[in-house]
Amino acid sequence: MHHQQQQPVLKNRRTLLERAEKFISDIYFTDCNLRGRLYGDSYPLECLTSFLSPKRIPFTEAAKQSFAPYTVGDPFGPTWWTCWFKVTASIPESWRGKEVHLRWESDGEAMVWREEQPVQGLTKEGEKTSYILTECLTDEEPHRITLYVELACNGLFGAGQGSMIAAPDPNKKYSVQKAELVVFNHDVRELLTDFEMLVDIVKQLGEGEQRGYQALFTVNEMVNLCDPADPTSFPKAHGLAHKFFSQRNGQSQHNIHAMGHCHIDSAWLWPYEETIRKCGRSWVTVIRLMEKNPEFVFTCSQAQQFQWVKSWYPGLYSQIQHYVKKGQFIPVGGTWVEMDGNLPSGESMIRQFLEGQRFFHQEFGIYCKEFWLPDTFGYSAQLPQIMQGSGISRFLTQKLSWNLVNVFPHNTFFWEGLDGSQVLTHFPPGNSYGMMGKVEELVNTVKNNKDKGRANHSAALFGFGDGGGGPTQVMLDRLRRVQDTDGLPRVQMSSPDRLFSQLHADSALLCTWVGELFLELHNGTYTTQAQIKLGNRQCEALLHDIEVASSLAMWKDKAFQYPAKRIQELWRLLLLNQFHDVIPGSCIEMVVDDALAYYQEIRRDGGQLLQDACKSLGPREQQQDACKSLGPREQQGHSTAVFNTLPWERNEVIQLQDATDQPRLALVKVPSVGLTMVEDTQPVIPVSVTVQADGTVLMENGILQAIVNKDGSLARLYLIKENREAVSDGCQGNQFVMFDDVPLYWDAWDVMDYHLQTRKPVLEVSQPVKVVSAGGLKGSVSFTLRISDKSTITQEIVLDAMSPYIKFNTQVEWAESHKFLKVEFPVRVRSPNATYEIQFGHLQRPTHMNTSWDWARFEVWSHKWADLSEHGFGVALLNDCKYGYSVHKNTMTLSLLRAPKAPDANADMGVHHFTYAVMPHTGTFQDASVIQCAYNLNYPLRLIECFPHTAPWSAFSVSTAAVILETIKPAEDRKDSLVVRLYESHGSSVTATLCTSLPVQEAWHCDLLERVDATRPAKMTNDGIMLSFNPFQIVSLLLCL
Ligand SMILES: [Zn+2]
Repeated sequence: MHHQQQQPVLKNRRTLLERAEKFISDIYFTDCNLRGRLYGDSYPLECLTSFLSPKRIPFTEAAKQSFAPYTVGDPFGPTWWTCWFKVTASIPESWRGKEVHLRWESDGEAMVWREEQPVQGLTKEGEKTSYILTECLTDEEPHRITLYVELACNGLFGAGQGSMIAAPDPNKKYSVQKAELVVFNHDVRELLTDFEMLVDIVKQLGEGEQRGYQALFTVNEMVNLCDPADPTSFPKAHGLAHKFFSQRNGQSQHNIHAMGHCHIDSAWLWPYEETIRKCGRSWVTVIRLMEKNPEFVFTCSQAQQFQWVKSWYPGLYSQIQHYVKKGQFIPVGGTWVEMDGNLPSGESMIRQFLEGQRFFHQEFGIYCKEFWLPDTFGYSAQLPQIMQGSGISRFLTQKLSWNLVNVFPHNTFFWEGLDGSQVLTHFPPGNSYGMMGKVEELVNTVKNNKDKGRANHSAALFGFGDGGGGPTQVMLDRLRRVQDTDGLPRVQMSSPDRLFSQLHADSALLCTWVGELFLELHNGTYTTQAQIKLGNRQCEALLHDIEVASSLAMWKDKAFQYPAKRIQELWRLLLLNQFHDVIPGSCIEMVVDDALAYYQEIRRDGGQLLQDACKSLGPREQQQDACKSLGPREQQGHSTAVFNTLPWERNEVIQLQDATDQPRLALVKVPSVGLTMVEDTQPVIPVSVTVQADGTVLMENGILQAIVNKDGSLARLYLIKENREAVSDGCQGNQFVMFDDVPLYWDAWDVMDYHLQTRKPVLEVSQPVKVVSAGGLKGSVSFTLRISDKSTITQEIVLDAMSPYIKFNTQVEWAESHKFLKVEFPVRVRSPNATYEIQFGHLQRPTHMNTSWDWARFEVWSHKWADLSEHGFGVALLNDCKYGYSVHKNTMTLSLLRAPKAPDANADMGVHHFTYAVMPHTGTFQDASVIQCAYNLNYPLRLIECFPHTAPWSAFSVSTAAVILETIKPAEDRKDSLVVRLYESHGSSVTATLCTSLPVQEAWHCDLLERVDATRPAKMTNDGIMLSFNPFQIVSLLLCL
């Protein structure tokens, strides 16, 4: 036809490109462009009724309620309620042969139910606004359909008031904006995807690439060919696009392994309960996509979320099991939740893997091969060893791309941990775990890859994340088009196993990163939500003690029944709270309330379990013998014994209640993992407390001498025998300091470097120092400081007889806003490095700010202690529930409390109790037993009622102080067997003997999942079990009794 004769295409890139963009715009020219044709005719619903529930209730309960008519546009709410809709629709006969959708646009997150089963999630934010009723309407299928829509009154990201991370607005109103039947024009969507990909290629490849221009002329010609009003014009346009997409790459092109993903925070800006529904909505949608896209692969972490779906959506769960078997729905990560990578204890981290891997094995017959933690705030140097011990040698994250200061130099590398264990590690170079299958992401994946030429494979995780949502059909369609398109990286639907196998096969040039993966951001999370930190630390110790006591009870008392199921439940609650927005304190107040309730449950039920186990610890035969020889009164009588769950002898002052409930002190000597009766012992050197003429107080216990100023600061802290002062000249120890703490955005998460410029000492004394305990077994003084008109610090400084450290029992009434409270100890030590305890070991970080890598660590995390030592002398700062530290030059600082206002407007407001301690020492911290002292501070000796005249006994001990027996627990699924776990804590290669009075028949080395290595029986001698250790090595043994 003459009017279509070739006209000149002018050299105006801009008009050609924008013309194509407008042709698919959902804002402009929708009256005549292609986008405006996506939906055909619409038809109103026959009936729409609703019922509002303050609670999250099951379908069966909701369906029984009485539903009232609902008019589209009517508001409902408030936040966190659920509105259930009953939808009745009749599809017009005339739509025969058409694809028909229920089009549903609403606020909130919705789940469609059909025939009592969940069938699909709907969220506007997640680009899911229609539910397919039929792909091609036939006469045979029912035209009249009843559905239910369960609409949660919260968005994908909760309900922040004004900004995403602001505290939730409890009074938000929600509405449905569109609820109707529509004809969906599938061919329009296909063509829109063609256009969109080509437009993006033009934009992403820019003006420097020939290939971009080829895309430009292709898309321009497609506009010429395509008449939106005439579907018969579509195939020609589609054909042009297809020709472009089919032009292939050369062999050297980068390979992208696309995997569907849906990061669902187990709690964050919404409570745990809502997460259960987020999993249901997201995963059921994934199953729908799998039905239509047999190549679609979806990776899914967090055993806890699988467990939730199993209990709440059994029908969906069995579909998931089906697709797991087919290899499309792939459980990854191997942990119970995606936990924080810094704060959980070593044993907690192992339990994350133990519970996770065992769950995946029981449910799906698999062990995950990769650790999966895309969104966590730093990664402990001990993780590689813990992964390897749990059957995992590969690791995926991307969070270090969030570093505020330094660009991490690798994307694919070997990560070497504290003990030398290595894992193959991949950071998807697109720096995201929520991609959309867009061209930009593919181009960035190649561009950003810092291992160009070393690693030719990368992961791309696509799907809405954080709040759930997951992949969409459009994302799959996009990726399908550019599987092998010249100019773009090759994209294949892949799996973690395929990706890592490829990376491993070609790993000769990969670099190695040694030590922790420190995130240079979110350093406030070591301190925010102090009650959660306290709950975690105390419950970790409690569960440890329950397991030790139960293990010994099984041996002492054949009648003792180990409550395995309940202990597992309590562990799982603890592990759940270690999720990477809960233990860091970056969650809303509702989550904090839930988390604290879980800790309360662990304390209450765990306390009972500990008592029950301790009751069985008196030797049974002896008791029975004793019963025979004692009179009735003595049979009823009981004495107090002290139980030590730690693997060394302890000499400590404890507090008892005597018969009249008066507190009484006693100095006890308790054997390693053992028990002794309380007897009154006098200290060799009593504590003395003397008020001096100038009002300062001198405290001494023969080891330490401290002078406390009237304001509670330490004028001096002196090692008596060694004649060595710990406090720096002209300075005071125990100096409280306040900082302004206003980050750039992430309030609960971030403390910024500039906060250090706002340091103000807390100097106002409301109650000067006064003596509380005058000496003997315990000396103590107390004082009160005023922080502001709303906040105070009251502290008792305690020096116990024979104690190598001085304790600071602290109470803070805290009502600040954007302030940070810390305590400082300027010490007389000079060293370029300080040492910090981590999981099963310790590491060093600089005390100077030479390089950007040094000063980016202005606030760091540690577990029970940090130490600053020079040759021959050092000072350790211990704590019982804190994690934030810094050591700059010679000042050791412990971070105590923050006051962020988002996402919890009331974070940390109220009364706090915590204890820290300072321990000057000669020699190294290893030889001075700093590690043991920090354990002692965190694992109180347990008082138990005991039959009188029980002889002291010890169940376990270790021949060298370098090796710590961390865990004694009943073995999983094995009767009469224990698992013991030891680690080398000094950073040395040593041999050790594990001595035990238990009747051990056999001992085997096992991994962290308690799988026995049949080639490695442990060597048993008359002295005990002989073991050898490399620095920081973790050793687990199965002991058969
Ligand atoms: Zn997350």
